[in-house]
Amino acid sequence: MICETPRVRFAPSPTGYLHVGGLRTALYNYLFAKKTGGTFLLRIEDTDRKRYVEGAIESLINSLKWCGIDYNEGPGKEGNVGPYLQSERLDIYKHHSLHLLEQGSAYYCFCTSERINILREQQEAAGTQPKYDKHCLTLSKKEAADRISNGENHVLRLNIPAGNKVVFDDIIRGKVEFSTDTIDDQILIKSDGYPTYHLANVIDDHLMNITHIIRGEEWLSSTPKHVLLYQSFGWEIPLFAHLPLLLNADRSKLSKRQGDVAVEDYRAKGFLKEALVNFVALLGWTAGDDKEYYSLEELVEAFSLERVNKAGAVFDLQKLSWLNAEHLRRNSTADITRMLKEELAESEYSSILFTDEYLNLVVDAMRERISFVHEILENSKYFFTAPDDYDEAAIKKRWTTESAMYLNKYAGELETLQCTSKEDYEHALHKCTDELGIKAAQIIHPLRVAVSGVGGGPGVYDIVFIIGKEETLRRIRRSIELISPSR
Ligand code: GLU
Repeated sequence: MICETPRVRFAPSPTGYLHVGGLRTALYNYLFAKKTGGTFLLRIEDTDRKRYVEGAIESLINSLKWCGIDYNEGPGKEGNVGPYLQSERLDIYKHHSLHLLEQGSAYYCFCTSERINILREQQEAAGTQPKYDKHCLTLSKKEAADRISNGENHVLRLNIPAGNKVVFDDIIRGKVEFSTDTIDDQILIKSDGYPTYHLANVIDDHLMNITHIIRGEEWLSSTPKHVLLYQSFGWEIPLFAHLPLLLNADRSKLSKRQGDVAVEDYRAKGFLKEALVNFVALLGWTAGDDKEYYSLEELVEAFSLERVNKAGAVFDLQKLSWLNAEHLRRNSTADITRMLKEELAESEYSSILFTDEYLNLVVDAMRERISFVHEILENSKYFFTAPDDYDEAAIKKRWTTESAMYLNKYAGELETLQCTSKEDYEHALHKCTDELGIKAAQIIHPLRVAVSGVGGGPGVYDIVFIIGKEETLRRIRRSIELISPSR
């Protein structure tokens, strides 16, 4: 029984981006380590040279960093069990694989891919599971050595004993059982001399003193091979926790075809890291109550592996947007303004200078009406530029011949005032409506269209106060021109 302080790891293969499923695995490992006072390490599984992507490790680390998921040991944070890049550990795998060979748990295989293909076709035609037929198991040590020194292509395979059962406990799934008859004699060392995932993963988990293996369900079918490897090496088997699959809304496996799967995509779309992390935490885990809003600290407090479900977790984008709005609103005005400035810098308004004071007012007017910061630009452009087109339906409904006269009266009133507060605009409007004997709405509605170009949005007094008297007057005058052109 393993009872030392937990050591867990996130062991991604660098594919060029961080998959949201990978983020969930990293997050659960991180939460578990934080909660238990354990150590969380990052190991890069980069032994598949065919899949090597330039810059992938850096972008993966950046994405984790952006999410606030910090590791204790890993690339750039060397601990006692490094290196943390598998491509820098090839000698270690070689050394251990020889041990397996000597004790008969592994054997060299020289079968060509042609032979393997024919074998697979025959097995498929016979309706049996495609498996290597242990053809090379009977080769003598001498014969194998000779063929290797003759430069023949070869791999190293795990010798899986037929007719046995592999049984292991999974923290999430309970007892899991596999028959060895269903397991192929896994390749451990490929013909290019690199280890496969299975060999490198088991050796590293052991040498890095990993106590709990928390990873996605897609690895569950590999686990019996790993258990057999631990047993062959005579090593203690860590505890396993296989996390449920992530599903599209139609319950198919989460795929690129149905939406974004990269953390970077969500970041580019303006999702907040706090919201994404909160959302991903709920993909397969609940504290057992209705609570859905969590900060990272609250997640650390509430998380436990025992409360992770077996059933697949549906990736519900609406919930993610809702959480984004919730997290956004809990940011201070100054923080949202900072984010807004970043959006503005990338926008068509990048050359216009807006003061922080101005943007703070815009943010306060809009914060309850948005789920994303970029919606401030999309939904209330009128804070950044005067309307140049006006919503057709709003014009039709709100701009009558009389409204030009009403707006004119209101403009005249504003001209006589300082307008230093929102209330000044409101009082001026009421003064006009009283004098004209009309309802406040009869000025408010056309005024809103005049200053914003649209029929909805924050309170009209907020808008006019924020854009200021001069700009309000300019926009009113232009609208009067449009309503009843002076000719
Ligand atoms: N390298 C594997 C991956 O890309 C790691 C699986 C595991 O955690 O064992 O996800």
